[in-house]
Amino acid sequence: MCYSCDPPTFRRLPILQFSVLGSGSKGNCVYIENSNHRILLDAGLSLRSLKERMALIGRDLADVSAVFLTHEHSDHIKGVGMLAKKHNLPLYGTRGTLAKIEHHLPASADWHSIEREDEVCLGNLKVESYPTPHDGVESVAFVVHYEDRRLGHATDLGCIDKTLLEKMSGCDALLVESNHDPKMLKAGPYPWSLKQRVGGDRGHLSNQECAQLLNQVKHDELQTVVLMHLSGVNNHPDIVRQHATPALAGSRAQLHISRQDHPTPLIPLI
Ligand SMILES: [Zn+2]
Ligand SMILES: [Zn+2]
Repeated sequence: MCYSCDPPTFRRLPILQFSVLGSGSKGNCVYIENSNHRILLDAGLSLRSLKERMALIGRDLADVSAVFLTHEHSDHIKGVGMLAKKHNLPLYGTRGTLAKIEHHLPASADWHSIEREDEVCLGNLKVESYPTPHDGVESVAFVVHYEDRRLGHATDLGCIDKTLLEKMSGCDALLVESNHDPKMLKAGPYPWSLKQRVGGDRGHLSNQECAQLLNQVKHDELQTVVLMHLSGVNNHPDIVRQHATPALAGSRAQLHISRQDHPTPLIPLI
């Protein structure tokens, strides 16, 4: 076959793939790859779990070329110390995050400080950070760009602000927090102060807020939505789906719900 005869409009498939390796209050990690780079957003699972989850999607943790951290809460950094020790790969995060997690890192850690609004280019894969309303010291989330595709990531945020709407608009994939059902949170076992924290403007997005966000930013080209950071105590995947499905009405996007104990399949963006 003469590949050189392919018309110039030929597009290889897929151009970007990702998997949520695990998500919830016990640990969060997203794996993203293009043909040249393999990165993690957060490393909130133990090194052993990270290795196992990567193997489940047919990938090797040793091939990851960088880790981007959102903030210092343990469900986002649990594995980063061992990861830095064993694999000594570049770590990217804000100075505020570094100040809080430095004691978990080996002296040799290859740390790169980023601003809350910043861009890091690994070849032609661009990782853009943006500030999130959360009770971390200097928390961020990310938009990953490759060619003309964009993957919008938004977890650990207490409310929908202008920046979030702007960053999530026009993305081809959305990885968004759908943390709790407000009724379950209110009636649940958490102490009052924790209920206030989770439900507050610097806590976590409820199912309703997530649905509102999806409804506002959905568009014809949206391919995939993965709902993340579900509370194991104050939420249930069925309730999450009940809110997200009507919010995405009219969109062709595939809806996935991430799990705490198992990775999603590798999801292609075409
Ligand atoms: Zn957090
Ligand atoms: Zn979290």
